[in-house]
This record gives sequence, C-alpha cells and structure tokens, in this order.
Amino acid sequence: EAGKRGVRTHTFGEHLRGLSAQRLELESDLRRALEQNEFELHYQPKFNTLSRRLVGAEALLRWRHPRTGLVSPDSFIPALEETGLIVPVGRWVMKQALETALRWRRDHHPTLRIAVNVSARELRQTDFLANCRTLLEPHLADQPIDVELTESQLMENVEHSMHLLEGLRDLGCRVAIDDFGTGYSSLNYLARLPVDDIKIDKSFIALLTQSPETMGLVTNIITLAHSLSLSVVAEGVEEEEQAKLLRLLRCDTLQGYLVGMPLNAEAFEAQLLSVA
Ligand code: C2E
Ligand code: CA
Ligand code: CA
Ligand code: CA
Repeated sequence: EAGKRGVRTHTFGEHLRGLSAQRLELESDLRRALEQNEFELHYQPKFNTLSRRLVGAEALLRWRHPRTGLVSPDSFIPALEETGLIVPVGRWVMKQALETALRWRRDHHPTLRIAVNVSARELRQTDFLANCRTLLEPHLADQPIDVELTESQLMENVEHSMHLLEGLRDLGCRVAIDDFGTGYSSLNYLARLPVDDIKIDKSFIALLTQSPETMGLVTNIITLAHSLSLSVVAEGVEEEEQAKLLRLLRCDTLQGYLVGMPLNAEAFEAQLLSVA
C-alpha cells in the first residue's frame, strides 16, 4: 500500500513539476512575444442580416509563434491573464485596432465599426478608463472603436460596470454584451446596463435549427433585446439554414464562418474593402 501511494505521489509530483515548467516556459514565451511583436490581430466581418452589407468587424488576437506558427487565443489568454501580461497586450490590441479602424474608415468604409474584446483582468485595472481616454479622446468625434464584454464580466460588480460602460460610451464606444445567454443573466440588470448590442453565444446558434427549445430561447432574446432598443448580433453562424432562420427572426447582424472567416488586415482589405 505504502509503496503504491509512494509511486502515485511521485508521479503526481512529476506531473506538477512538468506543468509548472511548461507554465514558466509559456510565460517567458509570452513576454518575448510582446517584446518581439509576435501578436497580430485578425478581423472577422459582421454583416447586416437583411442587406447583407458589411457593417463591422471583431478584432481577434493571434500569436505568430516562431516555431509553432499561428496560435489561437484560447490557448494563451488564460496565461496572459494570470501573469497580468493581458494588460499591456490589451493596450496594444486597442491601439492596433484603433489605427486600423481609422485607416479603413478614412480610405474605404466611413461607418465601419471595429470591436475589441477586453478581459475581466483589464477591466479591474483602476486606470483602464483613463488609458482608454488617452487613446480615444483625440478621435472622439469619429467614434471609431467598440468594445465587447461578457455577461459574467459585467455581473462581477454591477456598480463598477455601470461606471465603466458610461465612461466607454462617453468616449464614443458602442458596447456589446458578448457570449449572451451563457452567464448568469438578470433581466433587471440587462435593462439597466448602458449597452448597445448583445451577441448571442455561438452555442445557441449551433443548436438553433435542431432544438425547438433553443429556437424559442433565441426568439425571446431577440424580442427582449429589441424591446430594450438593443441591436442583436448572432455569432458562430456556420450554416445557411441558421442564417435563414435568423433573418426571419429579425436578428440584426450575422457573424460566423458562413459569412466570413477572421482574416489578417491585408486579406480583409483585399477581400472586403478594396472591391470597387
Ligand atoms: P469570442 O469573443 O467569443 O470570439 C468569437 C470566437 O468564435 C473567435 O474565436 C472566432 O474565431 C470564433 N468563431 C467565429 N466564427 C465562428 C463560427 O462560425 N463557428 C465557430 N465555432 N467559431 C467561430 P478565437 O479567435 O479563437 O477567440 C476565442 C476567444 O478569445 C474570444 O471569444 C475572446 O473571448 C478571446 N479573445 C480573442 N481576442 C482577444 C483579445 O484581443 N483580447 C481578449 N481579452 N480576449 C480575446
Ligand atoms: Ca467577442
Ligand atoms: Ca462571443
Ligand atoms: Ca467567448
């Protein structure tokens, strides 16, 4: 028995050491990535459901790793958050997206809206709003950039969220509630929060044409949002059937692989903006 337990403990210890070594390596990799400019933004288009016109894009973080190639955020954002590196990375994201938004709006599409994702850790920084102000105030009149925040982030501290949302809106940002439906949602708060859009989480869109319950839920979300004068974005639209149904349900905006993949800035420009 003792022997067995000994072996187990040993194995577990090895495992932990392995994990924390991996963690340390990832952390130093991420620091280098920031210094060496290995991060890039890809832009996924959003289209008006009825007119099918391009209305905006979501900026999505990518890591161009020198050895493993392009890395998706789910595998490194938790580490960025734990180390606090998400703060400088988030500032870089906003600055980069702002530059792109200003350029595209000036050269191609005067009303294009570009949105960035902001993590909970960034929002908790006491200087978050002040940093946004420094960056965005010179462009206030152009209202160039939008922000996506998840429902659970906003519910963490409702009073603080109200203050942040009002601050962001004063800077000309539209604010979207991301992953809507996955968190603890209180209709009472939803009605009070100064937001502009809700993004229905892709897990609902995936079930939309298969589950009558999900379809009922999505129908109700859209009705509720419209009654509060909020605009509705469906994310993760992959199939024509889903798009058709969302059109019938009067969903305002579509985003997903069916209508447009995330593209780097050059590809986005070439494929979606430079046309005539
Ligand atoms: P999210 O904000 O919910 O972003 C939507 C995710 O769905 C993106 O994954 C996008 O590529 C993916 N997606 C788009 N269309 C489809 C579709 O039709 N089907 C499916 N299955 N997926 C689709 P991505 O780029 O891997 O990003 C994952 C998450 O990482 C994002 O989820 C967001 O929470 C976070 N993230 C991305 N960029 C940033 C950033 O700059 N800052 C912060 N703090 N978080 C970011
Ligand atoms: Ca998002
Ligand atoms: Ca989302
Ligand atoms: Ca998400």
